[in-house]
Amino acid sequence: MSAPFVDKLEGLEDVHPADKWLRTDMLPHIWCPGCGLGIVLNAYIKAAEKAQIPREKRVVVSGIGCSGRAAGYLNQDSYHTTHGRSIAFATGIKIARPDLNVAVISGDGDLFAIGGNHFIHAARRNMDIKVICVNNFNYGMTGGQGGPTTPIGAKTTTTPYGGFEHPFNLPWLAATCGAVYVARWTTLDSRRLRDSIAEALTKKGFAFVEVISPCPIGFGRPNKIGSGLDEMKMYMDKWDLKPPNWITQEGSNPREADITLGKPIVVGKFVDIDKPTFLDLYWKILPHKEETPLNDVEKKQVAGAKA
Ligand code: SF4
Repeated sequence: MSAPFVDKLEGLEDVHPADKWLRTDMLPHIWCPGCGLGIVLNAYIKAAEKAQIPREKRVVVSGIGCSGRAAGYLNQDSYHTTHGRSIAFATGIKIARPDLNVAVISGDGDLFAIGGNHFIHAARRNMDIKVICVNNFNYGMTGGQGGPTTPIGAKTTTTPYGGFEHPFNLPWLAATCGAVYVARWTTLDSRRLRDSIAEALTKKGFAFVEVISPCPIGFGRPNKIGSGLDEMKMYMDKWDLKPPNWITQEGSNPREADITLGKPIVVGKFVDIDKPTFLDLYWKILPHKEETPLNDVEKKQVAGAKA
């Protein structure tokens, strides 16, 4: 005989603590069981709470792909933009409204293939935006094709014999382009991920957090890894992600953060420096005409740049 259906246990709330930050009318979500994207979205919500960023100051911009749904699920100002252009949209928002805390949540394909040029120039300019890249080593939504971070030897639908292109080392790319904050975590390490995103959200300048995240459909299946949980176990075991490889020393060289199948994944914080942002330099260097009155936000920028 089957057990009686219980729809609510006594004493338990029927709302999740994160519900107030989600557009619950958009649920159920489209993400596959075992996907790491929910962990990343939760980490952003918790991080923004930890950083005490009020709802009216938060903006999230997403691109195209499974991670692009993040913007749609958040109950705050958010934009689901065109393929590869999330950083361009975020840049426009930050320039128009420098008082907002602007974050991009998007995937490795969106940010580093079609969107690669936007990434390198936003980092070079030290645009004051925060980029959270969910790296699952493939284009999950469109059929599991290989992308710019697919490791050599990894199978995808377009690399059935194994990837044969050198993948990007994203922390090294971000650091060399000028990012002032660079970190990498996996979804397995959700608390450090939350704390790192909170740090990135409050860092002035271009901050980059890479999250290695399971995609049991596009990456796990062709590589015979198993479920999302199995993929996270693999980060620890096969990829040897365990102490002392768990965290790099403060200021470790991101050049050594290449991801190679069967070798340890280096995680941690690589870069945490200070330098003027794009808007700091803009207001400091560009002459502005006296006949064009500045609004309050602009006056604050000018005063800050001259200080
Ligand atoms: S295809 Fe991959 S990335 Fe997309 S929702 Fe499914 S598991 Fe997640």
